[in-house]
Amino acid sequence: MRPNHLNSYFASLTSLKGVGPKMAQAFAKLLRGDVLLEPRRIDLLLHMPVSVIDRSLQSSLATTPEGAIVTVKVTIDKHLPPPRGNNRVPYRILAHDDTDELTLTYFHVKGGYLERQMPVGEVRFVSGRLERFQGAPQITHPDYVVTEDDFATLPLIEPVYPLTAGVSGKLLHKTMLACFDGLDVLPEWQDRTLLDRERWPDFIDALHALHAPLGLADLNHESPAYRRLAYDECLASQLALSLVRNNVKKAAGIARRWDGRLKQAIIDALPFTLTGSQQAAIADVEADLAVSERMLRLVQGDVGSGKTMVALIAAADVIESGSQASMMAPTDLLARQHYQSVKGLCDKVGIRVAVLTGKDTAATKRDTLAALHNGDIDFLIGTHALFQQSVNFADLGLAVVDEQHRFGVHQRLALSSKGQATDLLVMTATPIPRTLVLTHYGDMDVSLLTEKPAGRKPIETRTMTLERLGELVTRLDQATAQGAKCYWVCPLVEESEVLDVTAAQERYESLKPLFGHKVELIHGRMSSEEKRLAMERFKDGDAQILVATTVIEVGVDVPEATIMVIEHAERFGLAQLHQLRGRVGRGDKASSCILLFQGPLGTIAKERLNMMRETEDGFKIAEADLRLRGEGDVLGTKQSGMPGFRVANAEEHKDLMEMARKEARLIIEMDPELQGPRAKALRDLLYLFERDAAIRLLKSG
Ligand code: ADP
Ligand code: MG
Repeated sequence: MRPNHLNSYFASLTSLKGVGPKMAQAFAKLLRGDVLLEPRRIDLLLHMPVSVIDRSLQSSLATTPEGAIVTVKVTIDKHLPPPRGNNRVPYRILAHDDTDELTLTYFHVKGGYLERQMPVGEVRFVSGRLERFQGAPQITHPDYVVTEDDFATLPLIEPVYPLTAGVSGKLLHKTMLACFDGLDVLPEWQDRTLLDRERWPDFIDALHALHAPLGLADLNHESPAYRRLAYDECLASQLALSLVRNNVKKAAGIARRWDGRLKQAIIDALPFTLTGSQQAAIADVEADLAVSERMLRLVQGDVGSGKTMVALIAAADVIESGSQASMMAPTDLLARQHYQSVKGLCDKVGIRVAVLTGKDTAATKRDTLAALHNGDIDFLIGTHALFQQSVNFADLGLAVVDEQHRFGVHQRLALSSKGQATDLLVMTATPIPRTLVLTHYGDMDVSLLTEKPAGRKPIETRTMTLERLGELVTRLDQATAQGAKCYWVCPLVEESEVLDVTAAQERYESLKPLFGHKVELIHGRMSSEEKRLAMERFKDGDAQILVATTVIEVGVDVPEATIMVIEHAERFGLAQLHQLRGRVGRGDKASSCILLFQGPLGTIAKERLNMMRETEDGFKIAEADLRLRGEGDVLGTKQSGMPGFRVANAEEHKDLMEMARKEARLIIEMDPELQGPRAKALRDLLYLFERDAAIRLLKSG
């Protein structure tokens, strides 16, 4: 339960004057993304301005430059309402100062309130953009008109906020300032020395500096006020993740014992030697398995860096120690593909492996589940079907999660809770910048696969307009005659799976007359059996061109494929293009990637395609992607900004996130149950930034 002393922060905006139920809905939409949720003061206080309007220029009419936003002091001379029944003529008010005359122009208004607001003969401060109409100063719809007495209420520096229908900037600003009335001052949760060193203001002062700024400099993301709040948010997030981590870790793990026979058998059976990175990652994993803390490890490696092998050996170790292992993939196709790719090896060394997906028949599923429960299966590969209640392992020792960013934190925890002391290994292919690792995975231990397997040839990447399709087809004809295998990826159409499929189908139909049985089609609407057959014909049969939707985006592994055609490449994100390209260049033959685009290209699309031509380095590409599209897209979550963050920004506040990680770790080390003197204030912080779910993990929440 949220402590009462935070009530002034969580009070509904409807408690403020002038915010009725309808307005509250508009605020709810803006601040919480849902009209049904209650808009609370803290939501508004953490709604950050994006710029300011500076109306501090107070000059005379004659000297104000054209188009400037200005605040002028004038005397009202005359009201000129439009002729009755003709509202195309604006309502005009004439006024003057010592230097010139001013016309205030209003369209579509009823004059009554204007007469009350600006009686003839009185002095008013008027603020707005001044324009000259045939030389005569004019302000259309002034932003503010106030009396001399009320001058202090006129915001000379006015913050500008992201808005939504039903909430004007002026109203938002007014409501914002009202929010500060009666806010309780909270005990400081940040370390005093840190605040002094960084010259950071207190929480409320920081909020005030941003919402009632004295100048543009206050809104800069590097300003002390902004950084203070960004750090608050980072610390709340890292503290919550540390609490979760601590909770998982303290649930006793098992110090596993095995002598490495299975692993050696696998290595002996491989046609290649492990890369240095693979060996190092395996060593990290084995060190984790051998101690009694639970493993929480992220294996990060670019496409084709060989993560599956690391997972398989981890599984072998755990199986040899007497427990079961599981591996979860994001799609049915990938789960089956993983199964196919490890089955041969598993059979050879005596690991009993099985696959379970949502598409299995009831009978198959029943048999698999029974075998799993009896311990007759050592290694189970599957999709999210593995989460289902009915899935009971005899003793799940290791959960491997592949391409993890497609799964939520909850699913991840659900899987690891299937076992008593399940160790967790997460594999991500998208090279995620460090800041995002921290925000999404928390403080996991990380092993990086930096080396590519030996003998990989660089992939030649070219761009080509769609008009040159004919040329491409001729070249494909030559290449396939020499035995080449090619993926042909059709684009995402407006995020509609049906249309995606149509595009792929049409391309398939148009290639069919030219290539006959050499073309194969695969898309998300096919049954898993159909997909499996299509993949098989491409992998081992006589199909050489696989027309596909993005179902092949992740994980598909056909080392003989050497050509990747991506149609309408301009519609794909960088990370996605990189993933797709990673499907080729896996064997020892030279590979190429052709990015077909439809011109004319926008600047960002152009930059993306250039980036693809310039580098194959997944980390460089991820950084560029972050720059070009915002963090949400790097993870494929399609949100803008860092998901779950309102103040901090992944690029600009990297240093703060790192600092927060260290501090959070220290706090939890010294006070794991958050009971110490600073703890109460830190709990407030978790509530304010809505990271309080983690508090429930504590003994006395
Ligand atoms: P990732 O999942 O990291 O994209 P995979 O594990 O699917 O990569 O491996 C890609 C391909 O490289 C597979 O065909 C795999 O058998 C092969 N491979 C893995 N490790 C090595 C290695 N050390 N040397 C050569 N090939 C390897
Ligand atoms: Mg993989």
